[in-house]
Amino acid sequence: MQRRALVVGLGIAGMSAAIGLRQAGWRPVIVERATERRRGGYFVGLMPQGRQAAADLGIAGHLHTRNPPGGGKAYSLTRRGNREPGLGFLHQPGAPAAVVRGDIEAALWQGIRRDGTSEPVDVRFATKPVEIDDTGTDVRVLLENTGTGAWRRESFDLVVGADGLRSSVRRMVFGPHEDFMTTWDAMICAFQLQAQVPSFAAADSVISAREGRGAWVFGFADLPPTALLTYRTGDVEGQFAGSTIERLRTAFSDMDDPVVRHALDSLEQAPDFLFDSVHQVKMPRWSRERVVLVGDAAWCLNLYSGMGATFALRGGAELGRALRESPGDLGVALTAWESRLRPAITRHQRLARMKQQLFVPSSRPAEALRSVVLRLACAARERRLAKARAAGGSTP
Ligand SMILES: Cc1cc2nc3c(=O)[nH]c(=O)nc-3n(C[C@H](O)[C@H](O)[C@H](O)COP(=O)(O)OP(=O)(O)OC[C@H]3O[C@@H](n4cnc5c(N)ncnc54)[C@H](O)[C@@H]3O)c2cc1C
Repeated sequence: MQRRALVVGLGIAGMSAAIGLRQAGWRPVIVERATERRRGGYFVGLMPQGRQAAADLGIAGHLHTRNPPGGGKAYSLTRRGNREPGLGFLHQPGAPAAVVRGDIEAALWQGIRRDGTSEPVDVRFATKPVEIDDTGTDVRVLLENTGTGAWRRESFDLVVGADGLRSSVRRMVFGPHEDFMTTWDAMICAFQLQAQVPSFAAADSVISAREGRGAWVFGFADLPPTALLTYRTGDVEGQFAGSTIERLRTAFSDMDDPVVRHALDSLEQAPDFLFDSVHQVKMPRWSRERVVLVGDAAWCLNLYSGMGATFALRGGAELGRALRESPGDLGVALTAWESRLRPAITRHQRLARMKQQLFVPSSRPAEALRSVVLRLACAARERRLAKARAAGGSTP
């Protein structure tokens, strides 16, 4: 009989896992507590491993990418507000694909709806698990419809917790958030701009970073840019009290440059935005018997790593592969799956600390060092481009 898996969360990790499971011959059911799909969203740079996972999941053809020609132009603003050539997110090695989160979501949605002869995945909105009981032979899950308040108990062969940073599956099965979530004393606010920063071209990326604060504008080929404001704070809890825009205005009060001004003014008009604290999730093991966590629920790398979406895709694709390779033994499959992913995830969790300095330097010396490193890297890139042009090659 076809085995059934409950996937909790209709995010990138959940849909990837559902497709991976279906490829392995399982019948996944996705429950999502929201009442509808989450579209649009912030800039995501998808790295080669993520693009390969998208291909493995059969959704690469659905993925709309928005890279400006040649990676686009990036500028840094100096302390005086003057622009100088800079390095944007898209200029890093690996040539990331520029997308918004919703582009990956839309591609995966097409993937779970139909796949050749496969049945569409059963997706239930406004539904969340309230009890998870692993009996040793199956997992009995009490599901709540948050619209009607109705409860229903169902039995599954596997539960996949893909319910993000503050995963309820992790809390119910593995332990409280404090056991696994590390706090980074930093905040982020990400949103779509209606228009580019005045005097910059539509697809430009513009960065302004000072001690403890960073403002990033990510340009696209065919969409107004998205903005990211990030700052460090010793009082994370306090940041959630009162008006978000006032919090941000206070945090950025002595940075009166065109990027910060434009971003803060645009935020006042933004129909929605993401405002949250920054964490990483660290767990000694991502599965317990018949329950496994994927994506941010298991290993949240956080936005500074720039790898969360990439590994959410890869986690699902690899889960499918491991289940295909060990169809008769779930324990063996989950162990193989974790041992394939963990070394890279551990490496990127460590690297994220260093990358955080690029987004938001921790001190004045770190800010100065960051500027020097970026100027040198930018000059090296210019030399490479000039050489490629002279040789008549393409410009990366
Ligand atoms: C500003 C920003 C920039 C980023 N930039 C990049 C980047 O450049 N490159 C990159 O690779 N990654 C980036 N990331 C990270 C990436 O977006 C995430 O790692 C990835 O989207 C996580 O996906 P997920 O499916 O694990 O979690 P989520 O997207 O959080 O999805 C979890 C889902 O579970 C649902 N859910 C939660 N609780 C329940 C429940 N109890 N019952 C049912 N459903 C539930 C939620 O509603 C949601 O739909 C960025 C993140 C941010 C915030």
